[in-house]
Amino acid sequence: MRGRRIRRAIGGAAIAAIAILTGVGMWQTSRPAPSSAHVLSRHPRAVMGTTCLLAAVAEDSDIGERALREAEAALRRVEALMSSWLDDSEISRLNRAPLGKEVSLSDETLKVLRAARGVASASQGAFDVTCGPVIDLWRSAGESGVYPSEADLRGARAFCGWDHIELTESGAVKRTVEARVDLGGVAKGFGIDAAVEVLAEAGMLGGLVDVGGDLRCFGTDPDGGRWRVEIKNPFGEGPLAHLRVGDSAVCTSGNYARFVEIEGRRYSHIIDPRSGRPADAVPSVTVISRSAMTADMWATALSVLGEEGLDLLPTGLEALLVLGSADDFRILCTQGAQSLIEAPHPVRLVIAERGLPQTQGSMPERGE
Ligand code: ADP
Ligand code: MG
Repeated sequence: MRGRRIRRAIGGAAIAAIAILTGVGMWQTSRPAPSSAHVLSRHPRAVMGTTCLLAAVAEDSDIGERALREAEAALRRVEALMSSWLDDSEISRLNRAPLGKEVSLSDETLKVLRAARGVASASQGAFDVTCGPVIDLWRSAGESGVYPSEADLRGARAFCGWDHIELTESGAVKRTVEARVDLGGVAKGFGIDAAVEVLAEAGMLGGLVDVGGDLRCFGTDPDGGRWRVEIKNPFGEGPLAHLRVGDSAVCTSGNYARFVEIEGRRYSHIIDPRSGRPADAVPSVTVISRSAMTADMWATALSVLGEEGLDLLPTGLEALLVLGSADDFRILCTQGAQSLIEAPHPVRLVIAERGLPQTQGSMPERGE
């Protein structure tokens, strides 16, 4: 009965979008949601240049609707502060600033920059938001369709690295005029965290925020259980696996969804800061963490590092990497990630033991 009430509360379009965007299973758990629960959703357009879904399980629908509007506003505020596509964002102001002039920044932007500097060090430079000059070079190459010259690449790389940007108590200072920051690999995660915090603080029983396939959920799903999240197949349509998660963020980076095309070939939008070239080796990386900001950064970092990066992954974070090609792929995951995968396990799953030799061989295929 309660299930029916919830099904009525959410529109058909919303159900379809939840299933498509995140694979969140609406009716698959046995524990019922509280009888007073309403399932509400919102699909704002053009948030961070991608699709967006906010969902809440609320005892009071008016409070729930207000919380969803405020959560959307939180996402838009983060975009307005941190997008390098918006001329008046704080990051664009920093990128245009003259040499040596301190640009004052909001606490949010400073928090993201400090976290990004920490992950640059922990990932041995694989995640580096100061790679703006190289990221811009590949973006322009995508627009012109012409592969960058060695000289251009060398030139752009010379301006990357945390030596060129100094963070102060209340802002940042460029130490090289050409230095540029790009928060494309972290701002989305930070925005998701901010939106989820709005929903949680408004007293929602559960909630989910999905921006372009990166998401965080908390509390109960519409049926009173854990949220069901789909890992997409990077080589084709449909899911590769499903995870069951509680209060968690699940962020995926890959070379299949966003790319640039140059001289008839596709290149990933993720750059390997060590070479200055697109990091195309890993088709898809999913990282699971409490914080979407952390998961977002590490998904990008592991896209650069591949399986060796698992040794650098901090405790508390779990990962699932799809390696190889459509004809010959394997799924490598940490033990913690494996425990979240819903049966039947996908074929060609290999468990990585961090810091230890990996267990070789495929998991036996379960189910039919
Ligand atoms: P998506 O936005 O598709 O979820 P990511 O989270 O991996 O993908 O972010 C990719 C974006 O991060 C790129 O478009 C670029 O703006 C930025 N970026 C690319 N390479 C790196 C890197 N090595 N370190 C930090 N940011 C990066
Ligand atoms: Mg990312």
